[in-house]
Amino acid sequence: MTKDAFIAAVRDAGIVGAGGAGFPAHVKYAAEADTVIANGCECEPLLHTDQHHMAHGAQAIARALAGLASATGAKRGIFALKSKQREVIPLVREACAAFGLEMALLDDFYPAGDEQILVRELTGRSPPPLGIPLQVGCIVTNVGTLAFVDAAVQRGSAVTHKSLTVTGEVKQPGIVRAPLGAAMIECLALAGGASAKDAVFILGGPMMGRVIADEEALRQEVVTKTSGGLIVLPRGCHLHLNAVQTADSMRRRAAAACIQCRTCSDLCPRMLIGHPFETHKVMRAFGSGAELGSEAGKLAHLCCECGACEHYACPMQLSPRRINQAVKAALRAANTAYDGPRDVREEQGAWRALRKIPVQRLAARLGIARYMSLATPDLGEAAPAAVRIPLRQHIGAPAEALVRPGDRVRAGQCIGEIPEKGLGARIHASVDGTVTAVDSAVTVKAG
Ligand code: SF4
Ligand code: SF4
Repeated sequence: MTKDAFIAAVRDAGIVGAGGAGFPAHVKYAAEADTVIANGCECEPLLHTDQHHMAHGAQAIARALAGLASATGAKRGIFALKSKQREVIPLVREACAAFGLEMALLDDFYPAGDEQILVRELTGRSPPPLGIPLQVGCIVTNVGTLAFVDAAVQRGSAVTHKSLTVTGEVKQPGIVRAPLGAAMIECLALAGGASAKDAVFILGGPMMGRVIADEEALRQEVVTKTSGGLIVLPRGCHLHLNAVQTADSMRRRAAAACIQCRTCSDLCPRMLIGHPFETHKVMRAFGSGAELGSEAGKLAHLCCECGACEHYACPMQLSPRRINQAVKAALRAANTAYDGPRDVREEQGAWRALRKIPVQRLAARLGIARYMSLATPDLGEAAPAAVRIPLRQHIGAPAEALVRPGDRVRAGQCIGEIPEKGLGARIHASVDGTVTAVDSAVTVKAG
């Protein structure tokens, strides 16, 4: 297959990064690289979605990675997963052998699946501050994304469904498959519902996911191309309390309790790959209300929001990650960009091997250790009566709707097109049915 045909298949299928922010894959794959990496490292504790993809489609993922290597001119194709994922290692090994790929096994540390950390682990190169792996010759792509790529290239299938881990305080944890636009509450129902009386929910993983206050709020949330997990936790748990702190409270606590020990900086994965980032300086600036007018405040731009500082490093249980988020938002609103150094400081990596955060210990700190060993069998597929498919499930501009209320659609039919000259991704119907509304999403009544 030619590169143009490969990219066209990915574009037509509406594929975006399935494990992260949803960058349109046809744009990412259009580059040239020397190394392409399939990321099966399942960064977040409790999530088993990548493992599920590898268990059910190691050959397909490897075939797609080989296709990506060919399209980008890469000499190396590396299939990365963790050595703890014992059940799938033989499958991945066999698939790698079949398609001439390398297999790399990583230890169980956080955040092994962060693409910059993964590139550093596998190639010894660090992408520059605010940079991307391509700047050091690498493309990293999630195994779930590659499963979509294979379906697009082999069968012309569009992205219509997503698998996600539903776990925590549920009656039956497991992997749920759902059409895009299905209400998250339907995924919860497939897992038997919440087993905690007064539950809160996390969309995504415990470290970087978004906390949803209650079941009523969960009813408004739908499955998208970037959904990977739904975690149910008791109200008042550490993760819930951390998420609901107000900016005022975070500022007061930063001013009163930050002892400038710099442990947050010393354990920061970005600092440890050589970025000139010292988050304790952001804390100092924020605590004194000087974050917008200081050089220290601008460092917040370098934060990838992994949460290692606030959920593991800080002895005072402060919130550097949330503070960096808030400072970044304020800086963007004030049109203040990062203008500091962009070099990689190799000497900062000297302690990196000794400062990797073991996931089991991290889970204990998060108060979620008791969910770590829950089995996550396949729970089947949600079959909602209606879906509400957002026209923007990706980085870039929303897709332009191609349908109107009253139209009949078939699953897999393109219902949203990429705006001309815009960055974006196509959107497809996820069920057969009738369009009932079109606004920022296309609502389809199944049937
Ligand atoms: S680890 Fe906590 S107390 Fe220490 S400098 Fe960072 S925010 Fe302050
Ligand atoms: S969240 Fe914390 S540990 Fe992660 S990059 Fe930002 S400052 Fe560093």
